Amino acid sequence: MASNSRAKSARTRAIDAFQLTVECGICTNVSQLRLLPCQHMMCAPCLGTILKSSNKCCPFCKERLTEYSAQSYPVCRITSDLQRDIQQLADALKD
Ligand SMILES: [Zn+2]
Ligand SMILES: [Zn+2]
Repeated sequence: MASNSRAKSARTRAIDAFQLTVECGICTNVSQLRLLPCQHMMCAPCLGTILKSSNKCCPFCKERLTEYSAQSYPVCRITSDLQRDIQQLADALKD
């Protein structure tokens, strides 16, 4: 029988899933997240790298990006609040 001790609990997996929604999908940065027109988000440094490349499109859905500066994309403010709440939840659920 496999031990349960190494398996993640359902609540740990839930927290992991929430954290995935509030971090850059490329580098897992959780600050400076920018919202793309397609509603995907990534951090400003990653977005800047893409905007400097010849193929300016969302890495997740390939939608073309028409603004050439990371600053032109709105900051995704909800993620910073959500990230803090998730961290508090994670701390509260620690054994
Ligand atoms: Zn990033
Ligand atoms: Zn996209």
